[in-house]
Amino acid sequence: QKSHVVVVVGGGAGGLSVASALLRRQPDLDVAVVEPAKWHFYQPGWTLVGDGSMTAEQTKHPESDHMPDKATWLRSAVTGFDPDNNRVTLENGDTIGYKYLVVATGLKLDWKAVDGLCDTLGDNGVTSNYRFDLAPYTCKLANELTSGNALFTQPAMPIKCAGAPQKALYLTADTFRRRGVSVNLAFYNQGGAMFGVPAYAQALDKVIASYGATPHFHHDLIAVDGKKQKATFTTPDGDVTRDFDMLHVVPPQCAPDVIRNSPLAGDAGWMTVDKNSLRHTRFENVWGLGDCTDTPNAKTAAAVRQQFPVVTGGILHALGHGNGGRDYDGYGACPLTTSRGKVLMAEFRYGGEVVSSFPMDPRVPRSLQWGVKRYFFPWLYWNVMLKGIDLSWPGHKPQPALTAIGK
Ligand code: FAD
Repeated sequence: QKSHVVVVVGGGAGGLSVASALLRRQPDLDVAVVEPAKWHFYQPGWTLVGDGSMTAEQTKHPESDHMPDKATWLRSAVTGFDPDNNRVTLENGDTIGYKYLVVATGLKLDWKAVDGLCDTLGDNGVTSNYRFDLAPYTCKLANELTSGNALFTQPAMPIKCAGAPQKALYLTADTFRRRGVSVNLAFYNQGGAMFGVPAYAQALDKVIASYGATPHFHHDLIAVDGKKQKATFTTPDGDVTRDFDMLHVVPPQCAPDVIRNSPLAGDAGWMTVDKNSLRHTRFENVWGLGDCTDTPNAKTAAAVRQQFPVVTGGILHALGHGNGGRDYDGYGACPLTTSRGKVLMAEFRYGGEVVSSFPMDPRVPRSLQWGVKRYFFPWLYWNVMLKGIDLSWPGHKPQPALTAIGK
């Protein structure tokens, strides 16, 4: 059996930022990253690909461009976790031992959970910004449809980037408005509000109303008939079926099977970690970050940006370096693209507490924030976060008056 001091599972946003940060602080540390994928995607860009404001290619880099030079890259997938014996098994048959383990596999998009969906994705007006290859189809539909019904769905929480389903709606609606076409717009949401934080939900109620789009709450997409262009939803009052000409689907999301079927998982299948230290609740030499854990924050790259220094500090402390660093406060951010050129920057942390990194009312959509989303964040992701640089500037400040709204 081969073994490494630190094994990082997943070379996405969380895995690469932790591996890079560890090696910045301890260049001689033996770190291995297990990642099967050849490409690394900047997923937050897919919303903008759906609008034509970014190209799909701008969101895709070779994984090798961002893998830290000093890390050992194991190009396979983990197929089993054995934390009692400090080892993982890989798809290629290898068993790898570790002293410390970091798990950052992301989550599973459960496309198959919606009956008929896989048969029609990318066809018959059925699209999704949750896939690199489909986001351009969203843009095509928004630019070609001339009438009829455009439906947008949101599944049960938790999902990655809880705002992304409605971002697709607003950008498409804005394109219809610019083109001067009249399309009926509806948002079918499994949940009961436009957003989990009341101050932002109230602001978004106004945004959706401004497009004349109808929100339908407690509607969960269960089946799609692509050929007939019909979508079926389950509701507290029974199932309903609606005709569509365009259907933007956000798939149900859950913990990856490899975690769900392992001792790392809690009851809901997610990896159980302490919400502040991100250390596993039962296995002391295991940490988790990003979308695969059960921490009650918004599953975003913004959260990962605050989480990776916490994990890095914890591991270095365990190795006898440093004082352990800070705790994770539940920070997450969702840049809501309310139209092309404007973003409402929703920032918050544990307990639905509103915070802001900018000295201005975060509920107001602004062109400055569009610039941050379109240009600053992608740069920050590729050049700062994945390089393991802890950039906390300017620091998010509590907004008690906004937190009190709806409480
Ligand atoms: P990922 O970045 O998904 O990486 C997981 C990695 O693990 C992948 O490389 C995968 O190949 C690898 N992996 C999986 N299984 C295994 C295995 N068994 N063995 C080894 N490796 C494995 N966030 C924001 O902050 N702002 C936004 O505006 C935003 N918008 C979004 C819009 C869309 C459409 C989407 C899809 C996401 C958006 N996000 C946004 C969310 C953000 O992309 C994720 O929260 C972030 O990428 C999570 O990082 P992660 O490391 O947990 O997972």
